Amino acid sequence: MRHCLRLTIAAVGVVLGIAGCAPLQPTPRLLPPRAGEIRGVWVSDTARLNWDDATSLLRRSGFNAMYVNFATGGGAFYPDSGVLPHISGMSAREFEHGIQLAHKRGIAVHAKLPVMFMLRSPSRFQRKMIAANRVMRGPNGKPVLQAGYTWLCPSQKANHDLMVACVREIVKRYPVDGVQFDYIRFNEQPACFCANCRRSFEQWQGKSVKHWPDDVLDGPSTRRFIEWKQLIVNQWVHDLGDAARTLRPGITVSAAVFHDLDRAREEMAQNWRYWLEHGWLDYACTMTYMTDLREFEARVHQQETWARHRQLVVGIGSWKLGSQAALLAQINVARELGAAGFVLFSYDDAAEREFLPNLAAQ
Ligand SMILES: [Zn+2]
Repeated sequence: MRHCLRLTIAAVGVVLGIAGCAPLQPTPRLLPPRAGEIRGVWVSDTARLNWDDATSLLRRSGFNAMYVNFATGGGAFYPDSGVLPHISGMSAREFEHGIQLAHKRGIAVHAKLPVMFMLRSPSRFQRKMIAANRVMRGPNGKPVLQAGYTWLCPSQKANHDLMVACVREIVKRYPVDGVQFDYIRFNEQPACFCANCRRSFEQWQGKSVKHWPDDVLDGPSTRRFIEWKQLIVNQWVHDLGDAARTLRPGITVSAAVFHDLDRAREEMAQNWRYWLEHGWLDYACTMTYMTDLREFEARVHQQETWARHRQLVVGIGSWKLGSQAALLAQINVARELGAAGFVLFSYDDAAEREFLPNLAAQ
């Protein structure tokens, strides 16, 4: 199998080499898909999604799954949420009709939630959450920001309950095929050092921290702090998935995760192998956004040792790739190494530059 893969990659390499001086670039031969393969795309901007165009293009191109943001830690893209503020102009009818269209065209719709990240959250709601001390804070006590948006502090029950209620709301209202948790982790910047995290950590370890935050940041309690943070995030994954499965048994539960498990566990408290081993996820989508094919292959190979029983769906950073040949080579790696499928980031980019491969014709 490994030998075959090297041959395929070599063939792609030859094609690429020829393409430099030939006017037309031949398409590399794709390996055949496995039965039940997931061929998906992540939609990056729900507010701009045209369901009709997207679902017809995906069907024509041989894709069978789309992962669409329904809500974030700071707002809902669908209207009239009972738990989160509204953050886009899409109506309930558009969502419902869009899901119907997708199903008619053989495409599964997964409701994706950037869980801790309050992406696109209205500033009024963020200010309210900061005032209530419910956001993630850095060592200096200031709210952690990413692209100008705050994050929910994971150790707070009110935040946990908010997102459990959100998952319930989505599954009750919309006939989605799955829920996918994204940003289900601590921020990669050192976090969280809010008063609640300090109190909860001290309670958990049964003693107070003498020098906060130095002792947990880089000191005698650092290891225990990482362990505690993992337990907190584990609980979220378990409970959010459980909320979805209780309402609709058989619904697919997945997570978009950092591609390197060791770094994910240490730096973000994202122990996705543990989640898979406990059956809390049906699969993990490993965001393996790399341009170097050898590096990509080595990482996917490593992921196969972390995610057993075909629970691995490889996330491909198609937006970073400059040629169809490079994209097809990465799809071949996912197929050769036995992944359950692959998901491209993102639909928006691929549609805009007409980069979506025609898998149906391969
Ligand atoms: Zn906190």
